[in-house]
Amino acid sequence: MRHVLILGAGFGGLELATLLSGSMSDEFHVTLIDQNDTFIFGFSKLEILIGRQTREAVSLPYRDITKPGVRFRQERVIAIDPPRRHVVTDGGTYDSDFLVVALGADYDPAVTPGFVADGHEYYSPAGAERLRDALAAFTGGTLIVAILGVPFKCPPAPYEGALLIHEYLMERGVRDVTDIQVVSPMGSPIPVSAEASAAIVLALAERGIGYTPGHRVTALDPSAHVARLATGDRPYDLFVGVPVHRVPAVVAESGLTKGGNDGWAAVNPRTLATPFPGVYALGDCADAPVPRAGVFAENAARVVADQIAAAIRGSGPTDPYNGQGSCYVEFGEGLVGKLDADFLSGPSPSAPFLGPSLELATEKARFAATRRQRWFGT
Ligand SMILES: Cc1cc2nc3c(=O)[nH]c(=O)nc-3n(C[C@H](O)[C@H](O)[C@H](O)COP(=O)(O)OP(=O)(O)OC[C@H]3O[C@@H](n4cnc5c(N)ncnc54)[C@H](O)[C@@H]3O)c2cc1C
Repeated sequence: MRHVLILGAGFGGLELATLLSGSMSDEFHVTLIDQNDTFIFGFSKLEILIGRQTREAVSLPYRDITKPGVRFRQERVIAIDPPRRHVVTDGGTYDSDFLVVALGADYDPAVTPGFVADGHEYYSPAGAERLRDALAAFTGGTLIVAILGVPFKCPPAPYEGALLIHEYLMERGVRDVTDIQVVSPMGSPIPVSAEASAAIVLALAERGIGYTPGHRVTALDPSAHVARLATGDRPYDLFVGVPVHRVPAVVAESGLTKGGNDGWAAVNPRTLATPFPGVYALGDCADAPVPRAGVFAENAARVVADQIAAAIRGSGPTDPYNGQGSCYVEFGEGLVGKLDADFLSGPSPSAPFLGPSLELATEKARFAATRRQRWFGT
């Protein structure tokens, strides 16, 4: 019986394990490894940030996974040997016939001087909890939300954060004594969609949130509470940064990043295959020409599942990766917009934008519920 080893039980790994479990489980078995005991949707961190949900309430325990042919192991991957498809964890060693690396992106907050000492983030559950507490105690002043490096997870998320923080501070009655500013190194919020960018820029302006595109905060001065930009310093009372992202160290050390752009795992963008036979990389850790977002990781998992099934059956070519995904964007006041992105199937990337509306908020809730049901049966 063949062995499929999936490293990382995030958006991509969970979808792949689900798909493989649903087909041919008598011909192979799957081991799914993650260092954590629970999964949290990226967008749930926004809920934690504004105190709408607790971390416990949005945590989905891996122990709930009961899929035929799939066993979950809570272990930390410490070495990957792609030519041998061999993996070492803190709990054992694994050999595989198919190895899928879906370890996501790590954060590197220390690479921005002063950020660890004086900045907040909401990209990790712990960071979102700390920022929630800081916002609850905030009495007004200048609040900067800055994107510290590109690429980063979920291109709309920094703007969603700013819009939700605005709403939260309104409710607390301290918005009129707070100046919120968004600073981004990118020229527009969502470069692939002029419509979505315009809707976000309008929403920021309508709420009196400052927006400085094309500028990057390079460092913080924790003693002076000042953010350093090439064009001058900006004082702040509360600094919120989207940390610089990087490939997990264990992936970088494995040789999988050789040939990938900016240190990400090198893959064929149409198949997600790495240069090593039987080894795939998908989702945020892979150098595929799509944004870092769960919906793209999920779609990539479908392509990899098809290829593994085809390799086992000895059947013909499978559909190539189309780089499609629908991303939901929180605007506050219960309104949600949607981007239907397609990066690879047309002559050029496209991403028409819908909303924002209450109906799309319902659709987003359904999106989360179907994944909870598919992956965890809850
Ligand atoms: C605030 C915020 C909002 C977001 N909103 C959205 C959204 O609305 N829609 C959307 O599609 N995406 C959204 N995202 C992005 C989304 O969460 C990620 O892009 C997505 O989770 C990537 O999937 P993945 O499978 O590649 O990696 P992940 O889901 O990050 O999974 C990687 C897994 O690997 C594990 N891992 C890493 N290193 C090791 C190791 N050494 N050993 C064992 N396990 C390890 C991690 O614990 C993790 O569970 C958001 C992200 C954030 C931060």
